[in-house]
Amino acid sequence: MTPNTDRNIPLFERAKALIPGGVNSPVRAFKAVGGTPRFVKRAQGAYFWDANDQRFIDYIGSWGPMILGHGHPAVLEAVQSAALEGFSFGAPTEREVELAEEILSLVPSMEMIRLVSSGTEAGMSAIRLARGATGRSKFIKFEGCYHGHADSLLVKAGSGLATFGNATSAGVPPEVVQHTIVLEYNNVAQLEEAFALHGKELACVMIEPIAGNMNLVRASVPFMKRCRELCTEYGALLVLDEVMTGFRVALGSAQSVYAKSIPGFKPDLTVLGKVIGGGMPLAAFGGPRAIMEHLAPLGGVYQAGTLSGNPVATACGLATLREIKKPGFFDALSARTRLLVDGLAAAAAAEGVPFSSDCEGGMFGFFLLPELPQNYAQVLKTDSARFNQLFHGLLDRGVYIAPALYEAGFVSAAHTAADIDATVAAAREVFKTL
Ligand SMILES: *Cc1c(COP(=O)(O)O)cnc(C)c1O
Repeated sequence: MTPNTDRNIPLFERAKALIPGGVNSPVRAFKAVGGTPRFVKRAQGAYFWDANDQRFIDYIGSWGPMILGHGHPAVLEAVQSAALEGFSFGAPTEREVELAEEILSLVPSMEMIRLVSSGTEAGMSAIRLARGATGRSKFIKFEGCYHGHADSLLVKAGSGLATFGNATSAGVPPEVVQHTIVLEYNNVAQLEEAFALHGKELACVMIEPIAGNMNLVRASVPFMKRCRELCTEYGALLVLDEVMTGFRVALGSAQSVYAKSIPGFKPDLTVLGKVIGGGMPLAAFGGPRAIMEHLAPLGGVYQAGTLSGNPVATACGLATLREIKKPGFFDALSARTRLLVDGLAAAAAAEGVPFSSDCEGGMFGFFLLPELPQNYAQVLKTDSARFNQLFHGLLDRGVYIAPALYEAGFVSAAHTAADIDATVAAAREVFKTL
């Protein structure tokens, strides 16, 4: 493709004149990796095609939702027939009840759930609910975890536990983040220290159990166990942000993975998004009845949404969940994902490239580092110039991974062994050049 014939280039120019950075969500702009974003024309199964009709094997899957691949027939059918019945009513529907029943039956820590339209909205509402239910203001989050772009969550650590966090975005006043305490992921000693100082003032601890927004870094079992114990001891709520991991790493979500190592483990609140909408704007938060009943109209915590529980989105989510709960779905998806990370690791080893990787269910991460990082500071040690070379090398060979090294990757049920083989072969060629 020469610059004269690449249709993505004029499209990006047009977009940049009208939309800040040419995109409606920053990471799509390729700012970290350089070059021109690919404008997607259509997608099917494990692939999408850009404005030049070039095909890419898609390892983003809309950042997680497309667990069945694009255009799954059962999901298409459900969406088409729902659309014929109406787009939005602003009144309750049976399908919202069905989706609630489906989700609650698969994630038993939740007795009640509320549907919203984005992960940001769900995370923000969960914090408000935790504060309303406990009557406390402060909460803990961890460096490198992303919970959407609500003001109080756009915070990085201050210089010590006694100091407040700093907003990571302009437009967020210091007063708004003064109750947000930011700690290092997987640091048990620091967590204990923070509870000793602030435990009785904490509404909640919010955490991505398997973090997918600093590439993939999982919370260690001892760390997660300590989070649970300290929350219980001090009367704070443990909020698992499973927007990415929910129905992606296992049918019971990440909490079921931790329950295997921590008997009886469950969060107080769960935040969901991505897969539960199957590619449509849909997210949710839920937990025990006694906490959820604090929400309006039953309780004093206000929360609402014009498009919440949208009938087309709920049809898409329901059809998606009904596919992934079929027997053997997660075993097959996990095996396919494992094939990819093992193949990449072997290719990197053959070419002498430092490499580490991890995966759970249909979610994977890899690093151009000899050992898996345990926290955000360690992720930052990645040589970003090298990552960018890898990204563009793969892109040139028709393989689309996240255009930033801070993102996890996703395999769908539509990815075949041949797709994985082609990806590994492409990666090996690129590793040779690193
Ligand atoms: C994607 C994501 C969010 C935000 O969801 P949006 O739908 O983009 O607002 C929140 N938390 C986690 C863990 C996510 O991965």
